[in-house]
Amino acid sequence: MESRTTGVHVRLLAVLSISTATLLGAPQAFAQADLQALYESLQAPFNLQLAGRPQWDTVDVTIHHVAGGIYQIRGEGGNIGMSVGEDGIILIDDQFAPLSEKIMAAIRSVSDAPIRFLINTHVHDDHVGGNAIFAEMGATIIAHDRVRIRMMEGIRGNPPLAREAWPVVTFSDPISLHFNGEEVRIFPVPPAHTDGDIYVHFTGSNVLHLGDAFRTTGYPNIDTGNGGTYQGTLDALQIAIDLAGPDTLLIPGHGVVSKREAAIELRDIAVEVHGRVAALLAQGMTYEEIIAAKPTIDLDPRWGSRLDRFLPGIYLDLTD
Ligand SMILES: [Zn+2]
Repeated sequence: MESRTTGVHVRLLAVLSISTATLLGAPQAFAQADLQALYESLQAPFNLQLAGRPQWDTVDVTIHHVAGGIYQIRGEGGNIGMSVGEDGIILIDDQFAPLSEKIMAAIRSVSDAPIRFLINTHVHDDHVGGNAIFAEMGATIIAHDRVRIRMMEGIRGNPPLAREAWPVVTFSDPISLHFNGEEVRIFPVPPAHTDGDIYVHFTGSNVLHLGDAFRTTGYPNIDTGNGGTYQGTLDALQIAIDLAGPDTLLIPGHGVVSKREAAIELRDIAVEVHGRVAALLAQGMTYEEIIAAKPTIDLDPRWGSRLDRFLPGIYLDLTD
């Protein structure tokens, strides 16, 4: 994020100084208006990228019943899952630290029970940002072994996370919580979005929280920098498809609660794009030429968020 921010600012300053030079001699009012418009047009995508992140006051945090004792909390960042019942509360992910108060208010609108466990679906900051705060309140944090390792090392060149945010219980084989009258199966899936991806299956409530291995907002998001892979994405989606019955509800990392058809659709779109990229590669195209050929242009209106987190994963799968 830091290098990208610097890049945008450098680019912005460069364009602004060129424009100032070309506008020399123009009426002052016109020059200022033009510069302001230029600044806004350049700044818009940058603001969009950071949308909501620094403006916590404007984020609405809402809670929605899913099935049985399972709820979904929406705000900014990854969808939070919650189990509520006689044993207390399990949370799945916690978005960003500055939203913790609003998240707690949403939880307390449903239950006064203690938060006993906090499960992290993977290491990204929009899913684990509140870890230290919920741990301080007494929640035991559970995550994949790889999540703890990446937090201790720091991701994308950032410093390690505060020790209080690290998972206390880690695993790389399936585990179960017997809680609120049902078995909650927590198990790793092949490296899809990251190498620390897990699914949480509320077996009695018939609900799966799939983290960012499943989303309804766009193409699969493969974070190759954190161990995500194309093949793992297919395999992880297949696990969800095989596990889900016709009435099973899937909570995605981002997007809306769905049924298995949505996971099938996401898997199929991944296979479709993989095939297109493979065909261009077979013609001898470089990665840059493949990007320039816009192989997904007909699909982008529906699926086009974060191609930069999708095509590299496919390219690596085909060339590694
Ligand atoms: Zn993520």
